[in-house]
Amino acid sequence: MNYYSLNKTAPNVSFREATIKGQAPDKGLYFPETIPVIDPSVVKNMDGYSKEELAFLIMEPYVGDTIDKKSLYRIVSETINFPFPLVKVNDHISSLELFHGPTLAFKDVGARFMSRCLGYFSEQQKGKVTVLVATSGDTGGAVANGFLGVDGVEVVILYPSGKVSPVQELQLTTCGQNIKALEVNGSFDDCQAMVKDAFMDADLNKALTLTSANSINVARWLPQQLYYFFAYQQWQDKTHPPVIAVPSGNFGNICAGLLAHVSGLPIEHFIAACNVNDAVPQYLLSGSYQPKTAVPTISNAMDVGSPSNFIRVMELFGNNYETIKDKISGYTVSDEITKQTIADVYQQFGYTLDPHGAVAYDALEQYLSAHHELKGIILETAHPVKFPDIVEAMTGKKIEIPESAQPLFSKEKKSVSMNASFASLKEWLLSQA
Ligand SMILES: *Cc1c(COP(=O)(O)O)cnc(C)c1O
Repeated sequence: MNYYSLNKTAPNVSFREATIKGQAPDKGLYFPETIPVIDPSVVKNMDGYSKEELAFLIMEPYVGDTIDKKSLYRIVSETINFPFPLVKVNDHISSLELFHGPTLAFKDVGARFMSRCLGYFSEQQKGKVTVLVATSGDTGGAVANGFLGVDGVEVVILYPSGKVSPVQELQLTTCGQNIKALEVNGSFDDCQAMVKDAFMDADLNKALTLTSANSINVARWLPQQLYYFFAYQQWQDKTHPPVIAVPSGNFGNICAGLLAHVSGLPIEHFIAACNVNDAVPQYLLSGSYQPKTAVPTISNAMDVGSPSNFIRVMELFGNNYETIKDKISGYTVSDEITKQTIADVYQQFGYTLDPHGAVAYDALEQYLSAHHELKGIILETAHPVKFPDIVEAMTGKKIEIPESAQPLFSKEKKSVSMNASFASLKEWLLSQA
C-alpha cells in the first residue's frame, strides 16, 4: 500500500516513509492509494476473532511489507493491551469506553501504535528521530507515555499554557527522559501552526529528522479504526448496525471510523459531535466550509477551529457534499448543555460521562429522537477523572482516581515556557540538535 499527498504535488510513499515524514513535502496529508476491502466473512464472523487477530487483519494492508508480520502482530497486540468495553447506558445508548489505556484517553491507541512503528523503523536508520507534536490536551500525554524510553526517538510537545487540565498537564510534563514539554503562551491553533512551520523549515530539516505525532500522521490516524471494529464486535443486534457519535476536534477519530465503514464495516450513521468549535457541523448545514479561530470550552480536547483531518473525510467521499451529508450529521453542543447532560445522565442512569462523552451523548440523543427505530453508541474518549471539577460539580460525587493515574500526582512538572512564535521554536530546536 502506498500513500499520496492530498495536495497531489509530492511523490507517493510507503507506510514507512509516511510514518517517518508525517506530512508530505507539499504540506499535504497522506492518504491511502486504495481503501482495502474487508473480507465479508470476517465481518460476519467477527465474534470468532480475538481483538488482536482482528487488529492485525485490519492494519496489515495499510502497513504492507514495511513491517514483517510477526513484528506487526506484536505491535498491534501491545497497542491494544487494555479493555475496550461497550457499556449499556440505557435502552438506546451504549458507551464504548476508550479510556482504559495508560493515559486514560483514547489517544493511547494511536500513540502506542505510532511509537512502536517508529521504534521499528528507526532501528533501520542512522541518527535519532525528533517527534514534534502540538496538543490541545490529550495527545501530549498519550504521545509522551507511548514514546517514553523508545530508543532513537526524541519527543517535543507543544501545549497552550493554562488551557489543558491539571491531569493532562502532569501527564505531558512529568515524563522526563526523551520527552520535552514546551509551554506555549497562546492557543492550540498557535501550537499547531508552529509545528507546521517547523516541518517546512529548511534549516530545521537539515539539522534534525523531524516527524509529527499529531493525528495527521498515518500511523496515529489509521489504528483508530479499531475502536469501531471493537464496537461492532460487541454490538448485540448485528442486523441493525449502530449509529456512532464521535466527540470531534481534529476529526482524526471520526475519519478513521468512516474509513472502516467504507472498507466494509456496517455502521448505520455517523454523528460529528462538536462543542462551539463547529466548523464541520456548520459545513454540513450550509455546504460552505469556514475554519474559525478556536474558542476555549470545557471539552477542551475538541477546541479546534480548523480541523486538520476534515480534508481526509472529504477525500474519502470524493469531495461530494451530498454523499458526506448522507453519512454524517453534525451537532453543536454548548458548555451549558454539556454540563446538564453530565448531571442528567448520572441522575437517570448512574453513568458518569466526561465532558467530551457528554457532547457526543447529547448529539446522539438529538439524532435518535428524530430516528426512533435506531440505537447508538457514543465513543467515551476520556476518563471523567481528567475533568474532576466539572464532573464532580455536576454529579455531586467524588470520582475515584484509577490506580494507574495515582503516581502522577507526586511527580514534578517540567516545562519550557515559549512565545507563540515559530522563531522561538526554531531557536530552541536548533539549540537541542
Ligand atoms: C483528541 C480528543 C478528541 C477529539 O478527537 P479528534 O480525533 O481530534 O477529533 C475528543 N475527545 C478527547 C478526550 C480527546 O482527547
